[in-house]
Amino acid sequence: MQFTDLKAQYAALKTSIDARIQRVLDHGQYIMGPEVKELESALTAYSGAPHCVAVASGTEALLIALMAIGLKPGDEVITTPFTFAATAEVIVLLGGVPVYVDIEPDTCNIDASLIEARITPRTKAIMPVSLYGQVADMEAINQIALRHGLVVIEDAAQSFGATYQGKKSCNVSTIACTSFFPSKPLGCYGDGGALFTSDAAIAQAAREIRVHGQSGRYHHTRVGVGGRMDTLQCAVVLAKLDRFDWEIQRRLALGDRYGRLIRASGAPVQLLAVRPDRDCVWAQYTVMVDDRPAVQAALQAEGIPTAVHYPKPLHHQPAYAADCCPDCNPHSIVAAQRVLSLPMSADLTEADQDRVVAVLANACVTSGCVAVGSGA
Ligand SMILES: *Cc1c(COP(=O)(O)O)cnc(C)c1O
Repeated sequence: MQFTDLKAQYAALKTSIDARIQRVLDHGQYIMGPEVKELESALTAYSGAPHCVAVASGTEALLIALMAIGLKPGDEVITTPFTFAATAEVIVLLGGVPVYVDIEPDTCNIDASLIEARITPRTKAIMPVSLYGQVADMEAINQIALRHGLVVIEDAAQSFGATYQGKKSCNVSTIACTSFFPSKPLGCYGDGGALFTSDAAIAQAAREIRVHGQSGRYHHTRVGVGGRMDTLQCAVVLAKLDRFDWEIQRRLALGDRYGRLIRASGAPVQLLAVRPDRDCVWAQYTVMVDDRPAVQAALQAEGIPTAVHYPKPLHHQPAYAADCCPDCNPHSIVAAQRVLSLPMSADLTEADQDRVVAVLANACVTSGCVAVGSGA
Protein backbone atom coordinates (compact mmCIF):
# COMPACT_ATOMS: atom_id res chain seq x y z
CA MET A 1 0.00 0.00 0.00
CA GLN A 2 1.23 3.51 -0.85
CA PHE A 3 1.04 6.42 1.60
CA THR A 4 0.21 8.69 -1.38
CA ASP A 5 -0.64 6.81 -4.56
CA LEU A 6 0.91 8.91 -7.35
CA LYS A 7 1.31 5.91 -9.68
CA ALA A 8 -2.42 5.26 -9.95
CA GLN A 9 -2.98 8.96 -10.54
CA TYR A 10 -0.44 8.99 -13.38
CA ALA A 11 -2.01 5.87 -14.92
CA ALA A 12 -5.38 7.62 -14.95
CA LEU A 13 -4.03 10.86 -16.43
CA LYS A 14 -1.20 9.47 -18.59
CA THR A 15 -2.62 10.56 -21.97
CA SER A 16 -3.09 14.20 -21.03
CA ILE A 17 0.07 14.48 -18.89
CA ASP A 18 2.21 12.96 -21.66
CA ALA A 19 0.60 15.20 -24.31
CA ARG A 20 1.08 18.31 -22.14
CA ILE A 21 4.75 17.49 -21.53
CA GLN A 22 5.30 16.71 -25.23
CA ARG A 23 3.85 20.10 -26.18
CA VAL A 24 6.44 21.85 -23.98
CA LEU A 25 9.25 19.74 -25.50
CA ASP A 26 7.99 20.77 -28.95
CA HIS A 27 7.81 24.52 -28.30
CA GLY A 28 10.94 24.52 -26.15
CA GLN A 29 10.07 27.52 -23.92
CA TYR A 30 11.19 25.88 -20.70
CA ILE A 31 11.32 29.10 -18.70
CA MET A 32 8.22 31.32 -18.54
CA GLY A 33 6.61 29.47 -21.46
CA PRO A 34 2.92 29.83 -22.30
CA GLU A 35 1.87 27.15 -19.78
CA VAL A 36 2.88 29.46 -16.92
CA LYS A 37 0.24 32.07 -17.79
CA GLU A 38 -2.24 29.35 -18.71
CA LEU A 39 -1.84 27.78 -15.28
CA GLU A 40 -2.13 31.14 -13.52
CA SER A 41 -5.40 31.81 -15.38
CA ALA A 42 -6.74 28.35 -14.59
CA LEU A 43 -5.91 28.74 -10.90
CA THR A 44 -7.48 32.20 -10.59
CA ALA A 45 -10.62 30.76 -12.21
CA TYR A 46 -10.60 27.77 -9.87
CA SER A 47 -9.86 29.62 -6.63
CA GLY A 48 -11.70 32.86 -7.32
CA ALA A 49 -8.63 34.80 -6.14
CA PRO A 50 -8.08 37.82 -8.41
CA HIS A 51 -4.34 37.27 -8.97
CA CYS A 52 -2.12 34.18 -9.15
CA VAL A 53 1.66 34.08 -9.55
CA ALA A 54 3.22 30.65 -10.21
CA VAL A 55 6.52 30.23 -8.35
CA ALA A 56 9.25 27.67 -7.72
CA SER A 57 7.76 26.06 -4.59
CA GLY A 58 5.43 26.60 -1.67
CA THR A 59 8.34 27.83 0.41
CA GLU A 60 9.29 30.32 -2.31
CA ALA A 61 5.67 31.54 -2.42
CA LEU A 62 5.80 32.25 1.34
CA LEU A 63 9.17 33.99 1.02
CA ILE A 64 7.99 36.12 -1.91
CA ALA A 65 4.80 37.02 0.00
CA LEU A 66 6.82 38.34 2.94
CA MET A 67 9.19 40.20 0.61
CA ALA A 68 6.21 41.70 -1.25
CA ILE A 69 4.76 43.14 1.97
CA GLY A 70 8.19 44.55 2.83
CA LEU A 71 8.98 42.48 5.92
CA LYS A 72 12.01 44.04 7.65
CA PRO A 73 14.47 42.63 10.20
CA GLY A 74 12.85 42.68 13.62
CA ASP A 75 9.31 42.58 12.28
CA GLU A 76 7.07 39.99 13.91
CA VAL A 77 4.82 37.50 12.17
CA ILE A 78 2.23 35.63 14.19
CA THR A 79 1.95 31.97 13.20
CA THR A 80 1.41 28.48 14.56
CA PRO A 81 4.20 26.34 16.01
CA PHE A 82 2.44 23.21 14.72
CA THR A 83 3.37 23.28 11.05
CA PHE A 84 6.09 22.36 8.59
CA ALA A 85 9.31 24.32 9.26
CA ALA A 86 9.03 26.30 5.99
CA THR A 87 6.32 28.49 7.55
CA ALA A 88 8.74 29.91 10.13
CA GLU A 89 11.86 29.48 7.98
CA VAL A 90 10.90 32.23 5.54
CA ILE A 91 10.21 34.67 8.40
CA VAL A 92 13.61 33.99 9.97
CA LEU A 93 15.39 34.15 6.57
CA LEU A 94 14.25 37.77 6.23
CA GLY A 95 15.35 38.64 9.77
CA GLY A 96 11.78 38.54 11.06
CA VAL A 97 10.62 36.97 14.30
CA PRO A 98 8.04 34.18 14.32
CA VAL A 99 5.63 34.67 17.22
CA TYR A 100 3.94 31.37 17.97
CA VAL A 101 0.30 31.13 18.98
CA ASP A 102 -0.95 27.74 20.16
CA ILE A 103 -3.41 25.54 18.27
CA GLU A 104 -6.95 24.43 19.01
CA PRO A 105 -6.58 20.90 20.38
CA ASP A 106 -9.40 19.50 18.22
CA THR A 107 -8.49 20.92 14.77
CA CYS A 108 -4.74 21.50 15.26
CA ASN A 109 -5.16 24.90 13.56
CA ILE A 110 -4.05 28.20 15.15
CA ASP A 111 -6.40 29.34 17.96
CA ALA A 112 -7.64 32.72 16.71
CA SER A 113 -8.80 33.71 20.22
CA LEU A 114 -5.16 33.79 21.39
CA ILE A 115 -3.81 35.98 18.58
CA GLU A 116 -4.72 39.49 19.71
CA ALA A 117 -2.79 39.19 22.99
CA ARG A 118 0.42 38.58 21.02
CA ILE A 119 0.20 41.64 18.76
CA THR A 120 2.88 44.29 19.37
CA PRO A 121 3.90 47.47 17.50
CA ARG A 122 6.34 45.26 15.53
CA THR A 123 3.70 42.83 14.28
CA LYS A 124 3.41 42.97 10.51
CA ALA A 125 1.42 39.91 9.48
CA ILE A 126 -0.55 36.89 10.65
CA MET A 127 0.27 33.62 8.90
CA PRO A 128 -2.28 30.91 9.70
CA VAL A 129 -1.66 27.45 8.25
CA SER A 130 -4.57 25.48 6.78
CA LEU A 131 -3.22 22.32 8.37
CA TYR A 132 -4.08 18.93 6.87
CA GLY A 133 -6.34 20.73 4.39
CA GLN A 134 -8.74 22.66 6.65
CA VAL A 135 -8.74 26.48 6.68
CA ALA A 136 -8.32 28.05 10.16
CA ASP A 137 -10.82 30.55 11.65
CA MET A 138 -10.15 33.02 8.84
CA GLU A 139 -13.13 35.27 9.50
CA ALA A 140 -11.93 35.98 13.05
CA ILE A 141 -8.31 36.27 11.89
CA ASN A 142 -9.20 38.74 9.12
CA GLN A 143 -11.16 40.86 11.61
CA ILE A 144 -8.19 40.99 13.99
CA ALA A 145 -5.90 41.91 11.10
CA LEU A 146 -8.25 44.68 9.98
CA ARG A 147 -8.41 46.17 13.50
CA HIS A 148 -4.60 46.24 13.77
CA GLY A 149 -3.59 47.01 10.17
CA LEU A 150 -1.93 43.63 9.58
CA VAL A 151 -1.69 41.48 6.47
CA VAL A 152 -3.02 37.91 6.54
CA ILE A 153 -1.05 35.30 4.58
CA GLU A 154 -2.69 31.86 4.43
CA ASP A 155 -0.15 29.04 4.27
CA ALA A 156 -2.39 26.95 2.03
CA ALA A 157 0.28 24.41 1.08
CA GLN A 158 -2.01 21.58 2.28
CA SER A 159 -5.43 23.01 1.46
CA PHE A 160 -5.72 23.78 -2.26
CA GLY A 161 -9.27 22.75 -3.19
CA ALA A 162 -10.71 23.19 0.33
CA THR A 163 -13.77 25.37 0.94
CA TYR A 164 -14.33 27.88 3.76
CA GLN A 165 -17.69 29.67 4.11
CA GLY A 166 -18.40 29.01 0.44
CA LYS A 167 -15.05 30.38 -0.77
CA LYS A 168 -12.00 28.44 -1.82
CA SER A 169 -8.81 28.25 0.22
CA CYS A 170 -6.32 30.72 -1.35
CA ASN A 171 -9.17 33.27 -1.69
CA VAL A 172 -9.98 33.89 1.98
CA SER A 173 -7.26 36.42 2.90
CA THR A 174 -5.19 39.17 1.25
CA ILE A 175 -2.42 36.72 0.34
CA ALA A 176 -2.25 32.92 0.18
CA CYS A 177 0.54 30.54 -0.75
CA THR A 178 0.17 26.98 -1.93
CA SER A 179 2.57 24.19 -2.88
CA PHE A 180 2.57 21.75 -5.78
CA PHE A 181 4.99 19.35 -4.07
CA PRO A 182 4.02 15.95 -5.57
CA SER A 183 2.11 14.66 -2.53
CA LYS A 184 0.04 17.82 -1.91
CA PRO A 185 -3.65 17.78 -2.94
CA LEU A 186 -2.65 19.42 -6.27
CA GLY A 187 0.89 18.34 -7.10
CA CYS A 188 3.38 18.50 -9.95
CA TYR A 189 6.34 16.19 -10.68
CA GLY A 190 8.97 18.21 -8.86
CA ASP A 191 8.80 21.53 -7.03
CA GLY A 192 6.23 24.20 -7.71
CA GLY A 193 3.92 26.58 -5.93
CA ALA A 194 1.72 29.63 -6.31
CA LEU A 195 0.99 32.91 -4.58
CA PHE A 196 -2.57 34.25 -4.66
CA THR A 197 -3.65 37.75 -3.76
CA SER A 198 -6.60 40.10 -3.94
CA ASP A 199 -4.21 43.09 -4.09
CA ALA A 200 -2.97 44.15 -7.54
CA ALA A 201 0.10 45.93 -6.13
CA ILE A 202 1.17 42.84 -4.17
CA ALA A 203 0.64 40.71 -7.30
CA GLN A 204 2.87 43.06 -9.30
CA ALA A 205 5.53 43.04 -6.57
CA ALA A 206 5.43 39.23 -6.46
CA ARG A 207 5.83 39.00 -10.25
CA GLU A 208 8.91 41.22 -10.06
CA ILE A 209 10.42 39.47 -7.03
CA ARG A 210 9.96 36.10 -8.81
CA VAL A 211 12.40 37.24 -11.55
CA HIS A 212 15.17 38.91 -9.52
CA GLY A 213 13.20 42.07 -8.85
CA GLN A 214 12.99 43.07 -12.50
CA SER A 215 10.21 45.39 -13.60
CA GLY A 216 11.66 45.26 -17.13
CA ARG A 217 14.44 43.30 -18.77
CA TYR A 218 17.66 43.99 -16.78
CA HIS A 219 15.92 46.77 -14.87
CA HIS A 220 16.08 45.69 -11.23
CA THR A 221 13.57 47.76 -9.30
CA ARG A 222 13.89 45.76 -6.08
CA VAL A 223 15.79 42.83 -4.61
CA GLY A 224 14.22 39.57 -5.74
CA VAL A 225 14.92 35.86 -6.04
CA GLY A 226 15.13 33.21 -8.74
CA GLY A 227 11.63 32.01 -8.00
CA ARG A 228 10.05 30.96 -11.29
CA MET A 229 8.04 27.78 -11.75
CA ASP A 230 9.27 25.64 -14.69
CA THR A 231 7.03 25.50 -17.75
CA LEU A 232 7.14 21.67 -17.60
CA GLN A 233 5.83 21.64 -14.03
CA CYS A 234 3.04 24.05 -14.99
CA ALA A 235 2.12 21.65 -17.82
CA VAL A 236 1.85 18.76 -15.32
CA VAL A 237 -0.42 20.75 -12.98
CA LEU A 238 -2.62 21.80 -15.94
CA ALA A 239 -3.07 18.14 -16.88
CA LYS A 240 -3.87 17.23 -13.28
CA LEU A 241 -6.62 19.84 -13.19
CA ASP A 242 -8.56 17.58 -15.62
CA ARG A 243 -9.83 15.43 -12.76
CA PHE A 244 -9.05 17.67 -9.78
CA ASP A 245 -12.74 18.23 -8.91
CA TRP A 246 -13.22 14.47 -8.84
CA GLU A 247 -10.10 14.06 -6.68
CA ILE A 248 -11.36 16.62 -4.16
CA GLN A 249 -14.76 14.89 -3.96
CA ARG A 250 -12.96 11.60 -3.47
CA ARG A 251 -10.72 13.01 -0.69
CA LEU A 252 -13.75 14.43 1.11
CA ALA A 253 -15.60 11.12 0.79
CA LEU A 254 -12.61 9.05 1.94
CA GLY A 255 -12.07 11.41 4.87
CA ASP A 256 -15.70 10.98 5.95
CA ARG A 257 -15.42 7.24 5.47
CA TYR A 258 -12.24 7.02 7.59
CA GLY A 259 -14.12 8.84 10.35
CA ARG A 260 -17.16 6.58 10.15
CA LEU A 261 -15.07 3.38 10.09
CA ILE A 262 -12.86 4.46 12.99
CA ARG A 263 -15.84 5.49 15.11
CA ALA A 264 -17.65 2.24 14.29
CA SER A 265 -14.57 0.23 15.30
CA GLY A 266 -14.84 1.65 18.81
CA ALA A 267 -11.05 1.96 18.91
CA PRO A 268 -9.54 4.63 21.17
CA VAL A 269 -8.53 6.90 18.31
CA GLN A 270 -9.25 10.63 18.40
CA LEU A 271 -10.51 12.11 15.14
CA LEU A 272 -9.77 15.69 14.16
CA ALA A 273 -12.72 18.07 14.18
CA VAL A 274 -13.87 19.72 10.95
CA ARG A 275 -15.88 22.91 11.56
CA PRO A 276 -19.37 23.06 9.99
CA ASP A 277 -18.63 26.14 7.81
CA ARG A 278 -15.70 24.51 5.99
CA ASP A 279 -14.31 21.20 4.77
CA CYS A 280 -10.97 19.42 4.96
CA VAL A 281 -9.32 18.04 1.81
CA TRP A 282 -7.06 15.82 3.91
CA ALA A 283 -3.64 16.52 2.44
CA GLN A 284 -2.89 14.08 5.23
CA TYR A 285 -5.55 12.02 6.96
CA THR A 286 -4.36 12.55 10.50
CA VAL A 287 -5.71 11.11 13.75
CA MET A 288 -4.44 11.12 17.34
CA VAL A 289 -3.42 8.05 19.30
CA ASP A 290 -1.85 7.54 22.71
CA ASP A 291 0.98 5.08 22.11
CA ARG A 292 2.02 6.26 18.67
CA PRO A 293 5.28 4.28 18.37
CA ALA A 294 3.46 0.99 19.09
CA VAL A 295 0.56 1.80 16.75
CA GLN A 296 2.92 2.89 13.99
CA ALA A 297 4.99 -0.28 14.37
CA ALA A 298 1.90 -2.48 14.22
CA LEU A 299 0.74 -0.79 11.00
CA GLN A 300 4.26 -1.04 9.56
CA ALA A 301 4.34 -4.77 10.31
CA GLU A 302 1.21 -5.16 8.16
CA GLY A 303 2.76 -3.18 5.30
CA ILE A 304 0.75 -0.03 5.99
CA PRO A 305 2.85 3.15 5.72
CA THR A 306 2.19 6.03 8.12
CA ALA A 307 3.84 9.39 8.81
CA VAL A 308 3.98 12.01 11.54
CA HIS A 309 3.09 15.61 10.66
CA TYR A 310 4.86 16.88 12.80
CA PRO A 311 6.89 15.27 15.59
CA LYS A 312 8.10 18.53 17.17
CA PRO A 313 6.46 21.94 17.45
CA LEU A 314 8.63 24.69 15.98
CA HIS A 315 9.31 26.30 19.36
CA HIS A 316 11.17 23.07 20.22
CA GLN A 317 13.26 23.19 17.03
CA PRO A 318 16.75 24.59 17.66
CA ALA A 319 16.62 26.89 14.61
CA TYR A 320 13.14 28.29 15.29
CA ALA A 321 12.85 28.48 19.07
CA ALA A 322 13.44 32.25 19.13
CA ASP A 323 10.47 33.69 20.96
CA CYS A 324 9.20 31.13 23.37
CA CYS A 325 9.59 29.17 26.57
CA PRO A 326 9.70 25.38 26.09
CA ASP A 327 6.43 24.90 28.00
CA CYS A 328 4.49 27.40 25.86
CA ASN A 329 1.91 26.17 23.36
CA PRO A 330 0.88 23.07 25.37
CA HIS A 331 -1.67 21.88 22.79
CA SER A 332 1.01 21.87 20.09
CA ILE A 333 3.30 19.85 22.34
CA VAL A 334 0.61 17.24 22.99
CA ALA A 335 -0.42 17.08 19.31
CA ALA A 336 3.20 16.52 18.24
CA GLN A 337 3.29 13.45 20.49
CA ARG A 338 -0.03 11.99 19.32
CA VAL A 339 -0.66 12.76 15.63
CA LEU A 340 -0.46 9.96 13.11
CA SER A 341 -1.16 10.29 9.39
CA LEU A 342 -2.71 7.33 7.56
CA PRO A 343 -2.56 6.50 3.82
CA MET A 344 -4.59 9.02 1.81
CA SER A 345 -4.99 9.89 -1.84
CA ALA A 346 -7.86 10.11 -4.29
CA ASP A 347 -6.93 6.64 -5.56
CA LEU A 348 -6.96 4.92 -2.15
CA THR A 349 -9.39 2.01 -2.47
CA GLU A 350 -12.15 1.32 0.03
CA ALA A 351 -10.72 -2.19 0.52
CA ASP A 352 -7.32 -0.77 1.49
CA GLN A 353 -9.01 1.77 3.74
CA ASP A 354 -10.95 -1.03 5.48
CA ARG A 355 -7.67 -2.85 6.12
CA VAL A 356 -5.96 0.29 7.50
CA VAL A 357 -8.78 0.83 9.98
CA ALA A 358 -8.91 -2.84 11.02
CA VAL A 359 -5.16 -2.92 11.74
CA LEU A 360 -5.26 0.51 13.41
CA ALA A 361 -8.15 -0.48 15.68
CA ASN A 362 -6.46 -3.71 16.68
CA ALA A 363 -3.15 -1.94 17.32
CA CYS A 364 -4.79 0.69 19.50
CA VAL A 365 -6.52 -1.91 21.62
CA THR A 366 -3.46 -4.14 22.06
CA SER A 367 -1.12 -1.19 22.73
CA GLY A 368 -3.39 -0.20 25.61
CA CYS A 369 -4.38 3.24 24.37
CA VAL A 370 -6.90 4.77 26.76
CA ALA A 371 -10.27 5.84 25.44
CA VAL A 372 -10.42 9.43 24.28
CA GLY A 373 -13.25 11.67 23.18
CA SER A 374 -13.78 11.91 19.45
CA GLY A 375 -13.26 15.42 18.17
CA ALA A 376 -15.59 15.20 15.21
C1 LIG B 1 4.61 21.55 1.99
C2 LIG B 1 4.49 22.72 2.87
C3 LIG B 1 5.24 23.90 2.66
C4 LIG B 1 6.35 24.00 1.66
O1 LIG B 1 6.02 23.71 0.34
P1 LIG B 1 7.18 23.28 -0.68
O2 LIG B 1 6.51 23.34 -2.00
O3 LIG B 1 7.64 21.92 -0.29
O4 LIG B 1 8.27 24.29 -0.57
C5 LIG B 1 4.98 24.99 3.47
N1 LIG B 1 4.07 24.93 4.45
C6 LIG B 1 3.35 23.82 4.70
C7 LIG B 1 2.35 23.84 5.80
C8 LIG B 1 3.56 22.67 3.93
O5 LIG B 1 2.83 21.57 4.19
